[in-house]
Amino acid sequence: MLEAFENIPSLYVHIPFCKRKCRYCAFYSVPCADFMEPYVDRLVSEIRRASRLFRKPFPTAYIGGGNPGCLSPSAFMRICEAICENGRPQELTAEMNPESMKDLPGSAFDYISRLSLGIQSLSEQGLSLLGRNSSLEETQGGLETALKLREKYGFSLNLDLICCRGCDGGSSAEDLEKAMGYESDHISLYELTLEGHSPLSRDFEKGIHKRDEDSSDELLGLWRALEKRGYEHYEVSSFALEGRRCLHNLRYWNLESYLGLGSAAASTAQGRSSYRIESPCDAAGYAEGEAFSGYIATPLTKAEEAEEYAIMRLRTSDGLDLGAYRDRFGKEPVFPKVGHMSIENGVFRPEGDEGMLLGDFAALEFCLANSL
Ligand code: SF4
Repeated sequence: MLEAFENIPSLYVHIPFCKRKCRYCAFYSVPCADFMEPYVDRLVSEIRRASRLFRKPFPTAYIGGGNPGCLSPSAFMRICEAICENGRPQELTAEMNPESMKDLPGSAFDYISRLSLGIQSLSEQGLSLLGRNSSLEETQGGLETALKLREKYGFSLNLDLICCRGCDGGSSAEDLEKAMGYESDHISLYELTLEGHSPLSRDFEKGIHKRDEDSSDELLGLWRALEKRGYEHYEVSSFALEGRRCLHNLRYWNLESYLGLGSAAASTAQGRSSYRIESPCDAAGYAEGEAFSGYIATPLTKAEEAEEYAIMRLRTSDGLDLGAYRDRFGKEPVFPKVGHMSIENGVFRPEGDEGMLLGDFAALEFCLANSL
C-alpha cells in the first residue's frame, strides 16, 4: 500500500470506537471493546512503518473517530509518539467528545496542536433531537476543561456544531450564539444530514420530526452571524479566525495525498498513477490482522480525479484556479456561467455566502462543461 505514495502524505488515523451510538449517526462505529489495545498496536506498527519509509515528519496529521477519547491515555499517547517519530507535523489535530476531555492526559498537548471538540449542540433541545451520546452537563464540562487546557498549552480549538435548520426541535441560532461565546479559533458548522438508516432519519420518515427543506435563509443567517464575529467563511462548513484555517483539511480540499490508517479509513495517493485506498468497516478484524493487510486500492482515472478536485475546490472560498487545474490535469478548463459564481484572474469561485450555497451545483455544471 505504501508504495502507491510518491511523496510524503498527510496522515489520518481512525479510531472507530464510541461509548454509545448517537441517534443521527450513519457512520461506521463500534462500542468500546477489549480489542481496542490490539487495534492500537496494529495502528502504531503501521504508523511506524510509514515513518521509517518516508523519513520526514508528516506534513499534517489528524486523529479522528468515532471518539479517540475512548482510548486509554497510554494508548492515545502511543499513537501521538508514533506520529511524531520523525518530528512534529505542522499541525496535529485530535478529535474528542466533550465527556472524554477529563480522561485526556495533559502530556498529550506536547503533541497535539489543534483540538476538535464535537459539541454538536449547546441546548437540551438540540442534544435531545440529535440523540447525542453526551449530556448538556458533560458537553459544557468538556468545553470548560478544553478552555483551561488551551490557556495552559496554547493549542488551537475547533468546535463542531450541527445545524438542524428547518427542523422542529432544533435551535441552531441559539446554539451558535452560545458556542461563539467560547471564542474558539475555528467553528465547523455542519448541516444535519438524514442519511443511511440512522434512528433519527427513520423518525423523520415516520413524521415524528418534520423539516422545512426551504430554509436557506436560516443557514445564511447563521453564516453571517459567524462572519460578524470575525470568522472567515473559507469552506462551506468551515469558519476560522485569522491564521486559524485547518491545514489538514486545506490539503484534503486541494486533493493532496493522505494516508488513512485504521478500520473504515480511506486514503488518496496522488501521482503519475493515483489510487483511492479503503479499509473494511471491521474494527475487530483490523485488530487481529497483519499490518497493512486488508486495504483495497482502486486506481483513479484522471477524469475521476478532476471531478473530485472540482467538487472540493468549489466548496472553498479560494475556488478553482485555472493554472493549477491546467498544470494538474493537462487541460484548459471551461468555466460555466453560474449565478453567484465569479470568474476573475483565472479563478472560478463562489461570490460570498450565496455562492457558497451553490458550490455543489457549480461543481456539477463545471463537470458537465468539461465532460467529466
Ligand atoms: S460520537 Fe460521532 S461517530 Fe460516535 S456515535 Fe456519535 S456521531 Fe457517531
